[in-house]
Amino acid sequence: MSFELPKLKYAHDALAPSIDEQTMKIHHGKHHQGYTNKLNDAIKGTDMEGKTIENILMNLDMENKAVRNNGGGFYNHSLFWEVMSPNGGGEPSGDLQSAINSAYGSFADFKEKFSEAAKGQFGSGWAWLCVHDGGKVEVCSTPNQDNPLMPGIGCGGTPILGLDVWEHAYYLNYQNRRPDYVEAFFNVIDWDEVSKRYAENK
Ligand code: MN
Repeated sequence: MSFELPKLKYAHDALAPSIDEQTMKIHHGKHHQGYTNKLNDAIKGTDMEGKTIENILMNLDMENKAVRNNGGGFYNHSLFWEVMSPNGGGEPSGDLQSAINSAYGSFADFKEKFSEAAKGQFGSGWAWLCVHDGGKVEVCSTPNQDNPLMPGIGCGGTPILGLDVWEHAYYLNYQNRRPDYVEAFFNVIDWDEVSKRYAENK
């Protein structure tokens, strides 16, 4: 059983103008498909075949660049599409709101921290909101297609929100204006989905 490109739960143009249709088509259909195909090639005939992507990443030999880059790419994008929605935006409520407030003081302070992580990631990478066992949340960033599930990343817990800051994620619409893209992302975050992931992983 090999990995398959997950279907989007909305149309390619549904997140516009925050994220434009052409970027979504290329990002999902070309980039994510590419990571998926290369991951399948990289694990074929190994003991990773048939395991979940989470299991593969948590037990990864970080010297295995093919699985690190493409397994990370497969997982990271699969999360990214799920935590966005045309009906997104606003702020979380309930337990996740409480966890964010106890870690960062307020939603506004969390947003600033997350945005700084996204804008400050030099070159390609991701910004994350993670949850640790016990429910504490943490913002961090990783380079390339690394993510907090991988060993020794220095950014721990289970990712429940991720933002792709590779240029391929925003350059068509925003060119070099990464801060504008980061701001627009907050218009499409599906906090119901992020809250669900918080509850499942705390
Ligand atoms: Mn990407």
